[in-house]
Amino acid sequence: MIQPGSRPVTLLLLGHVDHGKSTLLRTMLGLPRESGSIGPDPRDLAETEIPLGWGLVHRRVERIVQTARREYRVIDCPGHQDAVKAIATGASRPDTALLIVSAVDGPLAQTREQLLLAGEAGIELAAVFLSKIDATSSVSVVDRVEKEVRDLLRDCGHDGERGALGSVPIVRGSAMSESSVSTLVGALDERIPDPPPEEGPFLFRVDSVMADSERGLVATGFVLRGAVGAGQAVEAIGFSREAPQAFVVGRVESGRHRQKRARAGDTVDLVFEGGAIGGFDRGTVLAAPNTIAAGTRFEALAYLRATSDGGIDGTVSGTWEPEIALWGVEMKSRVRLREGAVATEMIKPGAPVRIEVELAVPVAVERRLRFGIKEIGRTVGAGTVTRVTGERRGGS
Ligand code: GDP
Ligand code: MG
Repeated sequence: MIQPGSRPVTLLLLGHVDHGKSTLLRTMLGLPRESGSIGPDPRDLAETEIPLGWGLVHRRVERIVQTARREYRVIDCPGHQDAVKAIATGASRPDTALLIVSAVDGPLAQTREQLLLAGEAGIELAAVFLSKIDATSSVSVVDRVEKEVRDLLRDCGHDGERGALGSVPIVRGSAMSESSVSTLVGALDERIPDPPPEEGPFLFRVDSVMADSERGLVATGFVLRGAVGAGQAVEAIGFSREAPQAFVVGRVESGRHRQKRARAGDTVDLVFEGGAIGGFDRGTVLAAPNTIAAGTRFEALAYLRATSDGGIDGTVSGTWEPEIALWGVEMKSRVRLREGAVATEMIKPGAPVRIEVELAVPVAVERRLRFGIKEIGRTVGAGTVTRVTGERRGGS
């Protein structure tokens, strides 16, 4: 039975090509009922293209694996480029990742790049699976590989010391063996905590605003995290607003019906009576006081679509001035390349890049926030905020 209070955890599979990610997923899906799978034929790992927003798509396999403790949405990317794209754009919004390293080959180039990027994007590792133990000749070889993995985790910021989950467990086994995969799943179940769904300070994206003479100011939008009820104090942050402005939620409504509360995942109307003078617009967020601030500058990891896939022509060096799509609005920006562990001298389509962004207007920004990059009305990339820099206006 799934534990009460648990919520589905989105788990991204990482690892060098051929190290056993898809084999592992197939075995996870085939585990006995009690700690096993639901959904389509486990042998069929057909890829689907999912929209990333802003007109971009992402190729991946997504399957539900149900364990003794919870449900996992497991994301398996067909290739390294898709994995990098998923990390850099925040696609699928993974809660955590599982790294698969073949004990025969040890960590390789793609292992390192994916780990580095995941570390920057704020995706913590839940565990490492050392696969292909059945094909190794000696325990000392596996011990050496495990040590290489530990060193790499430390180099790439996954030593667990900075994260919330503590040291990363390394489980040895065969991706084809049910018993090793059960042990791995047990380690995941144990290590990943269950945040209650309402956890996190209230954050609401305003999608449209209407002044209704009867009802008051009605903000229709989406609760990204936390919960809200009538009488609650909120702040309007960003988009043409220098300082946060305080409001009190008058009513929470859904289809004109009054609701007690709205929580993460709900699309609702928040109604503000009388006092919402000046109001707010699309592009504004409503948040619990002092939890998010407006800013104009941040560092980010981005993925630019390849030229053949509708991306920009050629390369960009120096300063680039695309539009940034964020909170449902588009704004002018200035983008510069940033030095990183994976060296890039130019902004190259079809690759991940580290950038520094300066927006023309202040908006609510925080780590892991996703955005689109547009040029002449065409989406050429997407990214995630890795660090907010510069002056903040209000909030924390
Ligand atoms: P992916 O590219 O990471 O998804 O790798 P795959 O899951 O497609 O596996 C690549 C190859 O390695 C396939 O031929 C698998 O059968 C094989 N393989 C994967 N895991 C194991 C394992 O634990 N032991 C052995 N002996 N072979 C494995
Ligand atoms: Mg695969």
